[in-house]
Amino acid sequence: MRRAAFNTLELFLIGAIACGTLAVDSVAPTSGLNTQATQLSIRGSGFESSATVKLGETTLAIVSVANGEIRATVPAGLDAGLFDVTVNLASTKSARLTNAYRVVSSSLRIVAVDVGQGDATLVISPTGSVGVIDQGRPGSGAKIQAAMTRLGATTIDWILVTHYDSDHFAGALEIPLPTIAYDRGEPAQGTATYQNYKTTMGSRRRTVSPGDVFDLGGGTALTVVAVGGRLLDGGVVATSSTEENENSIGVVLSHGKFRMFQAGDLTGPTAQGETDVETALGLFVPDVDIYHVSHHGSTTSSSDTFIRKLKPEVALISAGLDNSYCHPAPSVLNRLSNEGVTVYATTAGIVTPDAGCAVTSFPAGSRVLNGDIDITTVTGDTYTVAGDPRNDDGAP
Ligand SMILES: [Zn+2]
Repeated sequence: MRRAAFNTLELFLIGAIACGTLAVDSVAPTSGLNTQATQLSIRGSGFESSATVKLGETTLAIVSVANGEIRATVPAGLDAGLFDVTVNLASTKSARLTNAYRVVSSSLRIVAVDVGQGDATLVISPTGSVGVIDQGRPGSGAKIQAAMTRLGATTIDWILVTHYDSDHFAGALEIPLPTIAYDRGEPAQGTATYQNYKTTMGSRRRTVSPGDVFDLGGGTALTVVAVGGRLLDGGVVATSSTEENENSIGVVLSHGKFRMFQAGDLTGPTAQGETDVETALGLFVPDVDIYHVSHHGSTTSSSDTFIRKLKPEVALISAGLDNSYCHPAPSVLNRLSNEGVTVYATTAGIVTPDAGCAVTSFPAGSRVLNGDIDITTVTGDTYTVAGDPRNDDGAP
């Protein structure tokens, strides 16, 4: 539970004669979480029955006023964020506590952050737990933090590193230190970025295993389905310890009926010189709503068979404009399109081709956002992607 911060106390006395002292000492939810449509308790002194309360610019309905405590209701539909709390009295006294109350969203919020050529997915659970699945290439930290600020998050509870390629975890060194860093443990070949990560995260690291389920609060869970070729159903694909992509961690993020699959740069049957983990994973992976497309839409991943197993309605593609890897590949976009999947992209893809990349034209109906892709769901029965409403397909 997040408590209001005891920040700067600002006391304003307006008018020539002040009788007694009006002060706001602390603000907190009366119980549970500081979501919308809950009550908050303001503690202080000098409160009178004429008191009115503002949360930011919003006037709250007063529940009760006593000298030492005011209770008021936070309205439904208020945006998440950090707000000043101001108490006004008819006697023209006013007291304010700045940044005193954080309203957390009562929905699951997911942001595929536009980090250029790389992956970084911000996950904020209905109870305000903040996580980041992959953290992008060097320089991505500011973009992740901008997305956090937009959603009212300042601290990070957990990160998950799908694998140790720079475009998936270098940004972990540029964001607030998480409480926990989930990863697959020691790699065979530790790059300089890995050594920095190891030193920075230290005892915060936890090695995950297939079958691990992390309760993120408010009905949201993160289930680990693949780690280094070891799978949730007990299957094991013999991966090369020196190849990063095929050792990627795969996860399913769930909330009610809502499901999203994400697995870094996990490799499929079309990956040349790399091991196919995707096909074995496809034997048990659930029907999902959203497929965070593996390997930025590379030809190495997302086989027809795998897409048919996942049965996504929406695909998220995180890649950089005119990247040298030719991501996303037209063949992958065709596979998604053939299965009726709507593509959302952080990038316009390959617009000015070089190095043999084909020009990427997205399938009709795609949303090329050139920016963050926001996903929101309250109950899991319906959700929005970049503001587009969608119904869960009802599959288990
Ligand atoms: Zn990658």
